Amino acid sequence: MTRPVLVQKFGGSSLGTPSRVKRAAQRIAASQDQGFSVVVVVSAMGDATDRLLSLASRVSKEPAARELDLLLSTGEGVSAPLMAMALHDLGVSAVSLLGFQAGIRTDRRHARARIVGVTPERIERELESGRVVVVAGFQGIGEEMEVTTLGRGGSDTSAVALAVGLKAQACEIFTDVRGIYTADPRLVASARMLPRIAYSEMLELASAGARVMHPRSIEIAEAYGLELHVRSSFHRGPGTVICSEEGIMEDRNRVRGIAHEEHVARLSVVGVPDRPGIAAAIFEPLAEADIAADVIVQTASHEGITDMSFTVSSADGKRAREILESVAHSIGARTVLAQNGLAKVSVVGSGIRGQPGVAARIFQTLASNGINIEMISTSEIRITCIITADRVKDAVQALHTAFQL
Ligand code: ASP
Ligand code: MG
Repeated sequence: MTRPVLVQKFGGSSLGTPSRVKRAAQRIAASQDQGFSVVVVVSAMGDATDRLLSLASRVSKEPAARELDLLLSTGEGVSAPLMAMALHDLGVSAVSLLGFQAGIRTDRRHARARIVGVTPERIERELESGRVVVVAGFQGIGEEMEVTTLGRGGSDTSAVALAVGLKAQACEIFTDVRGIYTADPRLVASARMLPRIAYSEMLELASAGARVMHPRSIEIAEAYGLELHVRSSFHRGPGTVICSEEGIMEDRNRVRGIAHEEHVARLSVVGVPDRPGIAAAIFEPLAEADIAADVIVQTASHEGITDMSFTVSSADGKRAREILESVAHSIGARTVLAQNGLAKVSVVGSGIRGQPGVAARIFQTLASNGINIEMISTSEIRITCIITADRVKDAVQALHTAFQL
C-alpha cells in the first residue's frame, strides 16, 4: 500500500447528533486530503448503548448474554453507515463495515470478548481502491459466527487492534476532552493537560477511574509499540500522546496524575479462621458471579483469626454481600460487614517507583486535611487510598497541590 494508513476513532459524544457526525466527517476528509489511507472506527451515537441496555432491561429480567451482544452491536451498526453517508456527501468515497466484515475476530466471551486476531484483507482492498473505510467499533465475531462485544468503551480497543493489524502510521482517538489531564478538570480547576504519558501510567489511571480510554486498548498499544494520540473532536490542539516511558523526555520520574472513582463499597468478612484456602473460598464465588474485587486487605491474624476486606463497585455491593453471607457460614466466619459511600483516590506516576517519600507525602496531605484513610493499596507506580466519598473532591485537590501538578 503506498499511502500511509491513519486510524481515527470517534467516541459516542463526538457523534452525538447528525451535525456532529458531519463535523467528524469533515475532519476525516481533511486527513484523506493530507495523503492518508483513512480507517475510521466509530462508537455508537451519544448514549445509544445505554438506551439499548435499558430497553433490554424492560423486556427481560436477565437478558441472555448473546442476545444482549447482538442488540448492543446495533448501536455501532447505526453510526457506521451514517458516517459513510456523511462522507459521501462531502464527495469522499467511503464504505462502512460491521466488525465481522472488517475481520475483527474475538474469543467467545459475550460482553467482554477479547480480540484474538484481525483479518484485514477486505479493509486493505477497500483502501487500495481509494475508499475511506468506516468500521463499527466495540464488536467482533467469535466462534460459530457469533457477534460479540468487547466491553463498555471497547471501540478504543477495536481502533488499536486495527491500527496494529494494518501497520498504521498513527492512531488518533477523538473524544470530548482535550487530552489526558493531571486530574479530572471538573474537580481541579488548575488541572493541566499532559503532552505525553506512558502506557503504564495511562493503564493505571484508566483502571483507577479516569475513564478516557478502554484499558485493554492501552495494553495492546504497548505490546506492539503503537503510539496513541488522544485529542478533542471539538477543538484543534495537540492532545496527549500515549507512548513508552522512554518516549517521555522531560519530567521522567515524577507523579503524573491523580485519578478518582466514586461509588465504591467495602465488604469485610470478619472473624475468619486463618487457614489455607480461605481467600480462595471467598473470592472464587465472587469471580463466578463476575464481581471484580478491587483493593483487598487481609489483617494480620491474631490467635488464628483474621479479617478479610475488599472493595467492589457500589453496583455490585448487594450481590457481593449475599454471596459472602452464604460463604461466611461455610467457612465459619463470624459475620459480614458492608459499607457504602466510599471512594478511591489514586496517585499515579513512574516516579513512585523506588521513592518511598511519595507515599508519605500522600498520607501526610490527607491527614492534614482531616481525611481518614480507610484502606490502602499500591502497585509499582500507583498508590490508592480508599476514603469516604464526601471528601473525594478535597482529597484530589489537596493531592494535586501537594505534588505540584
Ligand atoms: N458504544 C459502546 C459503549 O458505549 C462502545 C464504545 O463507546 O466504545 O460502551
Ligand atoms: Mg467511549
